[in-house]
Amino acid sequence: MFLFPRFLKKLHPLIHRTYLFFKPAYWRLRTPAQKKFDIKLQYIFIGCFIGVLLTALIIPAAHHLISYPTDETQAHFSDLMTEEVLPSKTVFDIKEAQNSDNLLLNDTKAKIIPITLQLNKNETLSGLLTRAHVSIADALQASESLNLIVDLRKLRPGQLCELFFDEDNTFQGLKMEMHTGDVISTFKNKSGDFIPQSKEGKIETQQIMLDGIIQTSFAAAAKEAGVPNIIIQQVTRALDGEINFRTDLKAGEPFKIIYEKKTTETGKEIGTSQLLYVSLTTNKNTYQRYYFVDGLGVQGFYNEYGESAPQTIMKRPLGRGRISSGFGTRIHPILGYQIHHDGIDFPAPTGTPIPAAADGVIVRLGRNGGYGKYIKIKHNNTYSTAYGHMNAYNKELRVGSYVKRGETIGYVGSTGRSTGPHLHFEVIKNNKQVNPLKTYTLPKRTLKNRTLEAFKKRALEINPDYVYPQTIN
Ligand SMILES: [Zn+2]
Repeated sequence: MFLFPRFLKKLHPLIHRTYLFFKPAYWRLRTPAQKKFDIKLQYIFIGCFIGVLLTALIIPAAHHLISYPTDETQAHFSDLMTEEVLPSKTVFDIKEAQNSDNLLLNDTKAKIIPITLQLNKNETLSGLLTRAHVSIADALQASESLNLIVDLRKLRPGQLCELFFDEDNTFQGLKMEMHTGDVISTFKNKSGDFIPQSKEGKIETQQIMLDGIIQTSFAAAAKEAGVPNIIIQQVTRALDGEINFRTDLKAGEPFKIIYEKKTTETGKEIGTSQLLYVSLTTNKNTYQRYYFVDGLGVQGFYNEYGESAPQTIMKRPLGRGRISSGFGTRIHPILGYQIHHDGIDFPAPTGTPIPAAADGVIVRLGRNGGYGKYIKIKHNNTYSTAYGHMNAYNKELRVGSYVKRGETIGYVGSTGRSTGPHLHFEVIKNNKQVNPLKTYTLPKRTLKNRTLEAFKKRALEINPDYVYPQTIN
């Protein structure tokens, strides 16, 4: 003992012990009492080791059970080939399949019969396979092999799955096009093992131009021209505050829309389409807006000069609903005494999407005392908005994320000090809450220098007719 620093002994007897273990002198000089203690210690170490070993064994086993419940009661074979079975494709040649899809197929069989099934709600891939009469062993092996390359828990109900059987009705493998456009497959090789394969899907970006003339309303005309709803919404948002879509647009006025759509090889749409350009004429004024993302990743709509419109902060993010508690002094429903109410409460059902009241950057996202789940967005150096009692956040958002006006940031709930589902909404001007029902305007943004040059280039890519207007001084 005299060999070792005293502070170590003081620090913790166990650390001291461990230290002793590495000193050969200790093994020569240890007392019978120390020997006895060492035996105890040995048991503890063995215990820990067994514990770790068991955990290492149990976790994958438990994972296996959770991922692939082989509940036979669930597999009603009579359900198979009912309405869930999509029109089966005709028998095709194996060589053709190999060439076109680059799949690993067992080439001993001449014909392969594909059937397409849809993943049900709460169904695992192995569940789907057993539903299709695939043996449990094959179902598990096939899923396990795929689980090596993708997280199968992320499969969504409705996912289409193409299964391949040979002429003897033996399962040979499966293929799925994921929502990302990637194609994953697993096929039995000659020795009967399933070999997974992943093929990165080719994503095609298409630019679509649509135009028309307004008859009754813009929305009706746009729909008739084939503009998707999501793009119509983006148009309304891009020109919100400048055009009143109910009153300003008259019959006979033209519009033009260019948007971008991303599709997989098989033509399945992925992601959200993005409005790139809109031109609307009203009272002889033509409004043009180009979608542009600057070097910092800030997205927005700009006119032909590279100026974004001044933006107003939404007064009622949830639309024209009821107000259960206004701005100012009131009796607090839970605390029971008079306090100042720093925002406005908009009652709405749990899960109602909450839009960002204006473009900005998320500066706070998380629980905040009585506010419950809370988000604060900074719009510029003067204005911020805050949203409380949320049920959930938009999962893609973090502190620092840039959000567009109208983009869903979370969902209505009743977290924190709240009597029922509602949105508590605040407008903060110079660090002080102000009445959200008044009008607050964020000044326009003007692109300059390099950013302006980048904008001009992009605008020309979007719309070949683009010209930077000559400014008249
Ligand atoms: Zn409130």
